Amino acid sequence: MNKFKFNWRKPLIYSLFYLTNREVYNWIKEIKRLEKLSKNEIEEYQKDKLKKLLLHAWQNVPYYKDVLEQSKVVENGIINLNNFDKISYLTKEIIRREGKNIYSKDYKSRKTYANTSGGSTGEPLQLIQDKHYNNINYIVNKIYFQSFNGKDLGELEIDLWASMRDMQRNYGHYKEIFINFLYNRIILNSFKMSEDDMRRYVDIINKKKPRSMWVFAESIDAFCKFIKKNNLKITHHPKFILSTATTLYPEIRALAEEVFGCPVLNQYGSREVGAMTVECKYKNSHSFFWSHYIEVVNSEIVVTLFTNYSMPLIRYKIGDRATSAESFLCQCGHVTAPLKDMDGKVVTQFKKENGDLISSYYFIRLLFFQSWIKQYKLIQRDYNLIEFKIVLNGKSDEIAMRKFEDEVRYTMGENCKVRWDFVGEIEPTPSGKYIYTVCEIK
Ligand SMILES: [Zn+2]
Repeated sequence: MNKFKFNWRKPLIYSLFYLTNREVYNWIKEIKRLEKLSKNEIEEYQKDKLKKLLLHAWQNVPYYKDVLEQSKVVENGIINLNNFDKISYLTKEIIRREGKNIYSKDYKSRKTYANTSGGSTGEPLQLIQDKHYNNINYIVNKIYFQSFNGKDLGELEIDLWASMRDMQRNYGHYKEIFINFLYNRIILNSFKMSEDDMRRYVDIINKKKPRSMWVFAESIDAFCKFIKKNNLKITHHPKFILSTATTLYPEIRALAEEVFGCPVLNQYGSREVGAMTVECKYKNSHSFFWSHYIEVVNSEIVVTLFTNYSMPLIRYKIGDRATSAESFLCQCGHVTAPLKDMDGKVVTQFKKENGDLISSYYFIRLLFFQSWIKQYKLIQRDYNLIEFKIVLNGKSDEIAMRKFEDEVRYTMGENCKVRWDFVGEIEPTPSGKYIYTVCEIK
């Protein structure tokens, strides 16, 4: 009975944070205070954060000095938030064009590191980020949104997730093994799932009884379809399942809720700005207002990130769409101004002739660090042919292309070829959705 077992991991993880990363330790406490704030207090809190960020950007970032003066957000060194909506949007195009002009002059002293975005519109991007960003957006927010929905730090989670260890040769993974052990996390590789794998996954979930699960929408979809088709049963109901990275369609959610007998909740974010929102059990999305200021303008999500002073992202058009709702006190006890009708990345599973399912998101991840690609789309035409449509950003990178082909052969089979198709543009669907990957095998 897991329930009565002492969760020794929680005090251990806290102690490790206390000793090695005090900021995370302090912020976990700080969020307990922040989540109780009223609507007005949240507004005041965000105004204060915005002012500090804008002042920093004006003083230290060449690109923003001009932008903030032109929009009259800064006049004579004074911030005027009334003009905030006059600030021109930041786009991937501008980031690429401006390069170091968007870096803060003091970025070297901020323990920055490079991150590269998968981009919501299939446009890879090079970014630099503060250690503070990583602490808040990746560690603290994640701990928070799991506990928010009822899974405490150290309780078992099973992830139907990207196991790079299982996909890549010579992948150095000792740190990953340690972290997963510490956090009590079992990773079931969703990037490649054979029928045997999926049967094994059902057994593991029923036997280990996870408190929560993390999944990619298209992986849980394929997994649930397999379970139903083969009359298998999930006998353990986790407290909740979080779906992330790709779009959770209503039909995927309904199917997974039926198979797992628990709420399936959308968690939204991106590599540029980290985790931004999570749904509560009432299916309202809650934003992390201490790290992001979110606007919805003409159905486009626009984000200002509070946690990255090295390279401030102010009014950044993330490339995803949503409608927004009025702020209110949700039944779950937290104030929210939910994003609704979210529409983001659309990906699918690729198929092998032997029935194995390969997540095309695996290939998308391989493209994260490829600055020569402006936009892309992958189409599986046949078991042995993947077409790669690319809008180039400058010249093509032959070495990267050969490496990608190699990865495709390794994953999809020796005979699988890549057909490169350099195009001028990749059109979104009429609703503004970008389809990243398509599988034409029925
Ligand atoms: Zn709620």
